[in-house]
Amino acid sequence: MSKTATAPVICQVCKKPKSPHSRMIAGLIRPSLLEFIKKKSPHLDSKSFICLDDFGEFRKEIRHLHEKIDHLLRRQYNRLFEIQQIQIELLVQSLAFRRRFGLL
Ligand SMILES: [Zn+2]
Repeated sequence: MSKTATAPVICQVCKKPKSPHSRMIAGLIRPSLLEFIKKKSPHLDSKSFICLDDFGEFRKEIRHLHEKIDHLLRRQYNRLFEIQQIQIELLVQSLAFRRRFGLL
């Protein structure tokens, strides 16, 4: 292996020298994840290097955000279900009232 292939490269996120074997080229990162990373490191371009430690942290952050969104969606779905149950109960009560007083 040549000397340049093992020479440390500077990670564009943490700015630390890293082994060329523990890096990721930004251009190979899934576009949605790269967009997320660029919000925190706007100077990145597709040729930039990101160390695997930072890459792993970004992936962990994204996973955490997805879990949060899933939790919020589940909560909203449950609340919507409760509201629908209340609407159905009110409709049933309204129909019973109308029948009782001959309004139907
Ligand atoms: Zn780094």
